[in-house]
Amino acid sequence: MAFDGLMVSVSGVRGRVGEALTPEVMATFAAAFGAWAKTKHQGRPIVVGRDSRVSGPMFTRVVHSALESVGCDVIDIGVVPTPTVQMAVEHHHAAGGLAITASHNPVEWNALKFIGSSGLFLSAAEGAEMRALLDAGIPRATWDALGSVTSDDQAVQRHLDAVLALPFLDIAAIRARNFHVALDCCHGAGSVIMPQLLDALGCQVSAIGMHADGRFPRPPEPVAENLGALSALVRESGAVIGLATDPDVDRLALTDETGRAIGEDYTLAMAVRAVLPARPGNVVTNLSTSKVVQDAAHDFGAHFEFAPVGEVNVALAMQASGSTIGGEGNGGVILPELHLGRDAPVAVALVLHLLATTGKRVSDFVSEHPRYVIVKDKLDRPDVPLTNVYSALRKRFADAVADTQDGLRLDWPDRWVHLRPSGTEPIVRVIAEAPTEAAARQLVADAREPLAALVGAS
Ligand code: MG
Repeated sequence: MAFDGLMVSVSGVRGRVGEALTPEVMATFAAAFGAWAKTKHQGRPIVVGRDSRVSGPMFTRVVHSALESVGCDVIDIGVVPTPTVQMAVEHHHAAGGLAITASHNPVEWNALKFIGSSGLFLSAAEGAEMRALLDAGIPRATWDALGSVTSDDQAVQRHLDAVLALPFLDIAAIRARNFHVALDCCHGAGSVIMPQLLDALGCQVSAIGMHADGRFPRPPEPVAENLGALSALVRESGAVIGLATDPDVDRLALTDETGRAIGEDYTLAMAVRAVLPARPGNVVTNLSTSKVVQDAAHDFGAHFEFAPVGEVNVALAMQASGSTIGGEGNGGVILPELHLGRDAPVAVALVLHLLATTGKRVSDFVSEHPRYVIVKDKLDRPDVPLTNVYSALRKRFADAVADTQDGLRLDWPDRWVHLRPSGTEPIVRVIAEAPTEAAARQLVADAREPLAALVGAS
């Protein structure tokens, strides 16, 4: 089945509302997901939650109906973070979950994310199995076997309670500091959980973007260039830290006490420094994550591993190695003790725990450790495999450690470069990190060379 302009990835589909993403498309994928989940766990419900996007209520009704049409009972948990949907799937022993959210994509987008019965996003194999139903035909329920919809308004509270019950979290120490924090939820689902969390942690909060109405006042990805208003709020209010969540609250970005956005990679680096003293163990990140995370793991003598890009790949690698902390450099912190998904509320708790137990400022965690610059680039993907590009680069940079799990990553003690064909767009991403911008740009240029020759020739 063809869906023009729709971005179909391993664990989701996304598109612009009214263009590639219509109610019909959402209904088709939701029904296929329900039918697939039923074949695995007959009789168990599907959890549905959404972020704050304007199109959310419309798509929620469509998704409910589609699931009912294949005989699935639905438990709707309302406007919630994506990690809350994942935890609710586990709580309800559901057959799976659907999060209606386009995460950090611009306001005109929406999407469906597929969550399996374990609370993890669908793997590549599960996603393919589910999509096969689109061609084979979706089995619908007869009139007397349709599903029904109930709601559960306690999912956010359970999520909060679970974060606050983490045994190693020093809540008393955090509360004793009475931190003044600045918060920007960008009118996303963060507004339904972050104020309660910060209140429970004894924080005084200055906040912007707190109406969960999906009318994002800025591009919603929490990257440094989008956090100007939060930086200003930190400076005006005298807060000791700035916190920014993306619309579905699985990513957290920070500013330091001067309002400077320190880069999303520091969120996971600080979380690693918070967790490892209490929970020694492996650290896993994806191959495009900054060295600052690896450095944090090494400072505590922890074993460090890479996983292919994609949240589920990191989660599965963490599960396989019994990792205690991991995630992605984009501000996605995964603490398996809570659940195997990126979770901004737990990231906030860990970062405040670190500040409280070390007595340091956010800027100290940047200035005390080696610093790097990341440079990102992309090229058109050639119509031929990249095998020759990879071998040319491995030959040229024989002194680097090569990782071929996902494209090619070449690693040196203080720098790396990663080439990888995108899973959703006809491009090759090139990303490099080094102690200086010039050195990172040089690595990108070196990696582009054999690739550009191939694009020119194809
Ligand atoms: Mg997100």
